[in-house]
Amino acid sequence: MKLRIGYGIDLHRLEIGIPLFIGGVKIESEIGAVGHSDADVLLHAICDALLGAANLRDIGYHFSDTDPKFKGIDSKILLAEVYKLIAAKGYHVVNLDSTIVMERPKLNPYIPDMQSVIAEILNLDVDAVSIKATTHEQVDSFGEGKAVKAYATCLLNK
Ligand code: MG
Repeated sequence: MKLRIGYGIDLHRLEIGIPLFIGGVKIESEIGAVGHSDADVLLHAICDALLGAANLRDIGYHFSDTDPKFKGIDSKILLAEVYKLIAAKGYHVVNLDSTIVMERPKLNPYIPDMQSVIAEILNLDVDAVSIKATTHEQVDSFGEGKAVKAYATCLLNK
């Protein structure tokens, strides 16, 4: 048995009038995340945690944010590609834990759907996918609703 820990962090700027995707789920919101892909901050943090645990560099290394191929891409596709990369190195995911930092809207109602989406892509039981949400207590750019951030940690085994 070979256990490997990894962590990832991502953030995106928020703007009025664009869609918001977090954890592979569309969130009802007047503000959305700006990015080259669909700007799914949680899936990007999870991708980096998985890649880091397998020592496979980072999401930008594999999916360049200047490559037109990835313009507007659904980040569920990126997570599935990352899963293939770690599986090719002989790893499977044991569990992951994550936190989304966003002032509004409240994300808690969406968390069960996010867990299901991520568990399916990573071939996991939903119990192995922990997602937490917190605000930034109205402090700084995150607290002012100008940006969203996510942290993820994961454990891999082979
Ligand atoms: Mg990102």
